[in-house]
Amino acid sequence: TVRVRIAPSPTGNLHIGTARTAVFNWLFARHNGGQFVLRVEDTDLERSRPEFTDNILEGLTWLGLTWDEGPFFQSQRMDLYRQSIQTLLDKGLAYRSYETPEELDAMREVQKAKNEAPRYDNRHRDLTPDQQAAFADEGRKPVIRFKIENDREISWNDLVRGTVSWKGRDLGGDMVIARASEGDDIGQPLYNFVVVVDDIDMHITQVIRGEDHIGNTPKQILLYEALGATVPEFGHTPLILNQAGAKLSKRDGVTSIADFKKMGYTPEALVNYMTLLGWSPPDSTIEIFSLSESAKQFSFDRVNKAGAKFDWDKLNWINGQYLHAMPVDQLTDLLIPYWQEAGYEFDPVGDRPWLDQISAVIGASLSRLQEAVEMTRYLFIVEVGFDEEATTQLQQPGLAAALKAVLESIPSEALTDATIQEIVKQVVKAQTIKKGFLMKSLRAALTGALKGPDLVQSWLILNQRGMDRHRLQQAIA
Ligand code: GLU
Repeated sequence: TVRVRIAPSPTGNLHIGTARTAVFNWLFARHNGGQFVLRVEDTDLERSRPEFTDNILEGLTWLGLTWDEGPFFQSQRMDLYRQSIQTLLDKGLAYRSYETPEELDAMREVQKAKNEAPRYDNRHRDLTPDQQAAFADEGRKPVIRFKIENDREISWNDLVRGTVSWKGRDLGGDMVIARASEGDDIGQPLYNFVVVVDDIDMHITQVIRGEDHIGNTPKQILLYEALGATVPEFGHTPLILNQAGAKLSKRDGVTSIADFKKMGYTPEALVNYMTLLGWSPPDSTIEIFSLSESAKQFSFDRVNKAGAKFDWDKLNWINGQYLHAMPVDQLTDLLIPYWQEAGYEFDPVGDRPWLDQISAVIGASLSRLQEAVEMTRYLFIVEVGFDEEATTQLQQPGLAAALKAVLESIPSEALTDATIQEIVKQVVKAQTIKKGFLMKSLRAALTGALKGPDLVQSWLILNQRGMDRHRLQQAIA
């Protein structure tokens, strides 16, 4: 059976790149009736933080990328890693290496002078026990290195990229798999090694991860072989790029899933968009689909090799599609936290019908939930003021009388659509003004701006809090 995993490092909040890798793993697992494992790679003790782990788990859950097993934590599995390192030492496939940082620096200087790529020259590979003991007596603390033969050819059939080949000599020399430690102890095991031990132990059949890991794969394949394990398949997914074509990074602004959430993207829309970052369904005219729909069709044949440019317009469009299709009731549920956060005054329970009316009037023009805060300000805030255009409009000669007539026609009972039509009709007739002119002026007076959601609906909403009279009075004054 298919078993895939996502292995985030809790050294930052859940990043869109990691989330997109999670999407592809999730889709592949579901498509093949397999399992999706979550492993938290918290081996970097200095940079890992529990709050980042929380953020990552919350983000994946919010996106609907549920996992079947885990979370497993590497920090709790150190014994297993040390045992495996001991196995390699016993088999003579790894060794203790005693260089000082100064010696390694000097080695690199020489390579630099010769214009050679930096690599470890395997100088401590064949130390005798006596030589090792002598170094230890000097107080040197050894790292553990895994042997990589220069003449080895390593190749694999990548699920995305086809055949990929490397030469042992291009892997930088014998690799450090555990940090320095004293005597016979084994120091902290390092990333490339623990990933392999875990993927073997968790019976991972496909390693699907970002293209930035492609250089780790040949080293990891050698480790699988050394540990006597079956090498899984690998799929390196294209990176997400910014507008300049470089890897999307924190400097490009919003990249964490929590920030996308704050901005008002729905998880369904965000996942839909992420799925399209590098993949397209067989019918590529279809752009709106759920996780379970894309899972039915997902395969690596349709994953691009080229990087995927992040496109805000497209994301906004997709999010808009989800918001526009959403039942009003559900939209209100999602908007309430944004209105609360903005400090707008309302009772989420008692005012619910009024809030639903507001959602209904703006729903069709929203592309992000957060936009509702500005868009509905005039409905919540009594003293919203008139913007420049509205002020100019309200200074038109002869307008005050017309607005006064409107004000006086507003009935004491609740307004209806029909009453509004009737009031407008009467005032246009009595004041001999154009209907368009009156409507534009009413919009200016009632909403404080010349653009915005439907005027009649807005008026009905304002009327329930007596704000229509108040604004008309201000506009006349
Ligand atoms: N911890 C690695 C990362 O966050 C995962 C690498 C892998 O998937 O093998 O990028």
